[in-house]
Parts: sequence; C-alpha cells; structure tokens
Amino acid sequence: MKKWEENVKKVTPYTPGEQPKKEGIIKLNTNENPYPPSPKVEEILKNTDYRMLRLYPDPAISSLVDALANSYGIKKNQVFVGVGSDDVLAMCFMTFFGSGKKILFPDITYSFYEVWAKLFSIPYEKKALNKEFELVAEDYFGENGGIIFPNPNAPTGIELSLEKVEEIIKNNQDVVVIVDEAYVDFGAKSALPLIEKYDNLLIVQTFSKSRSMAGARIGFAMGNEKLISYLNDAKYSFNSYTIDSLNMHLAKVVLEDETYFKENLEKIVETREWTKKELKKLGFDFWDSRANFIFASHKKVGAKEIYLTLKEKGIYVRYFEKERIDNYLRITIGKEGEMQDLLQALKEIVGKRKML
Ligand code: PMP
Repeated sequence: MKKWEENVKKVTPYTPGEQPKKEGIIKLNTNENPYPPSPKVEEILKNTDYRMLRLYPDPAISSLVDALANSYGIKKNQVFVGVGSDDVLAMCFMTFFGSGKKILFPDITYSFYEVWAKLFSIPYEKKALNKEFELVAEDYFGENGGIIFPNPNAPTGIELSLEKVEEIIKNNQDVVVIVDEAYVDFGAKSALPLIEKYDNLLIVQTFSKSRSMAGARIGFAMGNEKLISYLNDAKYSFNSYTIDSLNMHLAKVVLEDETYFKENLEKIVETREWTKKELKKLGFDFWDSRANFIFASHKKVGAKEIYLTLKEKGIYVRYFEKERIDNYLRITIGKEGEMQDLLQALKEIVGKRKML
C-alpha cells in the first residue's frame, strides 16, 4: 500500500439492486413502482422553458416544501427535502448520531444504515428481530446514541404497530429516533401525528416508491422545527443546491395529484394480495407484507436457486446472501401481467422439483 493510501477513508459501500441494460426484463428487484408518475408530469415537461436551467435552483426548495407542509397538514419549518431519502438519512446520521454512544437498529433491515454508521464512524449495535422477524420494542429501551428503523421494515415488509413505535420513542426521549417510512403508503400507519408530541422524532419518506419517482431522487423528513433547522444547517454546510429546478416542480405536481396517487396504490395493494394467494398455492411462505414487495421462501427449493433460474428467464428479483435471510427472495410488486409471468416461471421451477 502506498503511503498516501494509508490515510484514505476505506468503506464497504452499499450494493444497490441491479439496473439491467437489456430490454424486456421483468424487473422486480428494486421496489420501484411499476406505473409511471402522475400524467401531470408530462404537461410540465412539455411546457417548461429549458432556459430556466441557466439559473441555480431555489436552495430552500420552497415550492415543494410548502406543498409537502400543505399536503401533510404541518408547518413549513417542519419539512426538510433531500436527494432521495438516502440523502436525507445520510444527513440525519451525520447530524444526530454524534454522541459517541451506540446507535441501535435491527439486525435484518435496510443495509445502508450500517454503511452510513461506518462512513461517519458512528458506533452501532444491531438488535435481533425475533423468530417471526418482528422488531422487539423493549430491546430498544436501554441507553443508546439514537435509533433508526424502517416501518414497514425492509426487506421483510412487516409493520410495527403504532403503539410499539410510540413505546420506543417514549423510552428514548434523550436521543433522536428516526422512523424510515419509505414504504408506509402501501398500507401501514404513519407515526407522523407523533411529531407534535415528541420533539426528538423524525419521520423520513420518499417519492421513489408510492409516487413512482425513483429516477427524480426526492426524499423528505418531517419533524420538530429544531430538528429540521439542524438538518438544514448540515445541508447548507455540504451542498446548498440539492434538488434541481425541474424536479422540484415535477415533485410538486405529483404530490398534488391525490386521485392518481390513491388509484396507483390501490392497484399495487390489490396485486400484492393476489400474488400472496398465488405464492401460497405454490408452497411459498412469507410475512404479511405492508410494503410494495413480498419477502418469501419456498418449502422445498432454495432461494438462491430460484433467484438464479428466474434471472436466466429474464425475471429479476432481489436475493441477499446474508445470515438469517439467505433463503428468502424479495419480490417487488409489478403490474398484474408481470406477476402472472413471475408465477408461471415459479410454477415451472418448483413444479419440476416436485417431480424429481
Ligand atoms: N429506506 C428504505 C427502507 C429503502 O428500502 C430505500 C430504498 N432503497 C430507501 C430508504 C431509499 O430510497 P430513496 O433514496 O430512493 O428515497
């Protein structure tokens, strides 16, 4: 190793799901929404004067912040916007988890938490989910430097009841508690109303899943004015212009098209519930997902084998070669036709095994 290399900060990065370049792939591996964003986006794209790109965007992202505050019934200074919730969460780790004490998160969860903890040299402890893959609230009651968990959890899709979420917050009022609600719109209860009661609670959500805008990179946090102001101080110490002018407008119209949003969610939830029934018939076990994915394992055929065979057939799902979950597949809910193709392929894979 060269001398200069000794002082390089070395990190093991998060591995995002594959984005295949090939045409015709059924892509059920990164929890994207199978439907396009609100058609109002097209109108804006057609009517936007490209010359506006000459100017820097509004650093305060005011029009989107106002729209979010309006839509969620909170004040403007209770909203923070970032480049996808990954950016918002990274800012949170940097801003709120610097006590030197261990922060807590589940052992099976969004694997980026561990990456950020290492990147920012934050000590951490992973609390094991129980056998049913549920988060145990009491495990989070001891002394710590902060808490983060997704609700519903990823990649399990399991929802923690609002009562349990509140118990965790109530027992941790001296540290910041972050609830990552990336998937909440698909049928779980948001802890947002609790931000009025607890000034140490931050709710993080995203436009990437329920609002079909993964490509636009828009995420946001909602919480007490003080938390938001600390986040803004961190943002302005890092990069003032996070959201580009075009995406700021697009996100606003997407947010305001409530009818389209609700119809889109209904379709996905309906397809999810139908897929669960069909998977059951093929001998799959899974948790009661409240997200836009199902975390499933088969009674007889190993997850890795299914994952690889599906890939050969042009169907991508997510497989994690990790302790406790290496016999599970995380399957994103696609369009009904895509799920029919998936089930047909699965039928062939597990059916063949039965005959052997
Ligand atoms: N939180 C969880 C639990 C996720 O699964 C994801 C998606 N990978 C994110 C946050 C980040 O999503 P985005 O940056 O697209 O908002």
